[in-house]
Amino acid sequence: MKAIVKNSSSPGLSIQEIENPKPGPLEVIVKIQKTSICGTDIHIYDWDDWSSKTINPPMQIGHEWTGVIDSVGSEIKKYQPGDRVSGEGHIVCGECRNCKAGKRHLCIDQHGIGVHLPGAFAEYFKIPATNLFKVPDWISDNIATIFDPLGNAVHATLSYDLVGEDVLITGAGPIGMMSALIAKHVGARNVVVTDINEYRLDLCRELGIIHTYHAKNDLRELMPSLKMSEGFDVALEMSGSPDALNNIISSVKNGAKIALLGILPDDTKISWNDVIFKDLFIKGIYGREIFESWYKMISMLDSGLSVDGLITHEFHYENFEEAIAVIKSGQSGKVILNWEK
Ligand SMILES: [Zn+2]
Ligand SMILES: [Zn+2]
Repeated sequence: MKAIVKNSSSPGLSIQEIENPKPGPLEVIVKIQKTSICGTDIHIYDWDDWSSKTINPPMQIGHEWTGVIDSVGSEIKKYQPGDRVSGEGHIVCGECRNCKAGKRHLCIDQHGIGVHLPGAFAEYFKIPATNLFKVPDWISDNIATIFDPLGNAVHATLSYDLVGEDVLITGAGPIGMMSALIAKHVGARNVVVTDINEYRLDLCRELGIIHTYHAKNDLRELMPSLKMSEGFDVALEMSGSPDALNNIISSVKNGAKIALLGILPDDTKISWNDVIFKDLFIKGIYGREIFESWYKMISMLDSGLSVDGLITHEFHYENFEEAIAVIKSGQSGKVILNWEK
């Protein structure tokens, strides 16, 4: 079969012919239909600092996917060939304190598919059945393909009660845009998005997020027009930019709640005095709550949340270089790779 592989400790990726996977007793083999490209995959392509410390080539990459079960291991009872599935990309130990308490997303020994274990950018792909999520019939293949990042957005956005609240989202990448749509869906009052990329700000407005601003704007000056006086109640940092985090800290009200999903540089400086004297609450977000974020995601899609407009491009997997170039240009939302046609 064909797979997209990081073959050596240097930039780039290549399509390789590799052996088809075989399921262990508790695993299934999925015939991949579609995958989408994550920022993580771009880091691996570029062979940056993080990926050179994390990835052990050769590694088949990719963790955003949907497909149909091709075969199941001898102990699998709940899945059959032909089931439409997506799945959780973090494989957990099942034995640590958090796993045993049902908080699998807080496992101390997690392995990422497409990072530590062979990924989904392949014609066939092996995954433990405990990580599968059955895709309801009414969900399109494209939406099932972006369950992983949508689940990140659900996890971050539903961390706090947003009903009637004023919410600031810094970073209009796909997860930032998804979060803005979720915040509106669950009843936030003002949802304000900032970024420095005009294409993404425009896309955000097209998706119906009207309060979308270039990050250079002074948010305090905008507040009166949004009927706000003291600052944002909740902020979601989704850009990984230290400037954005500092904007958040200066434009939230006392006692505000902040979630961090964007990966900030280790030497990011903030005003710790503001954190203390404004009584701020800061929470880190990694992955999805397994599987609570997934259930909430399906419920919101069923009750009118629409994220289709976020998907801007689709390529055949053989043209992955073109897909990566589009992402690097900054002129894209979510980019899909098709493994069938
Ligand atoms: Zn991802
Ligand atoms: Zn664990």
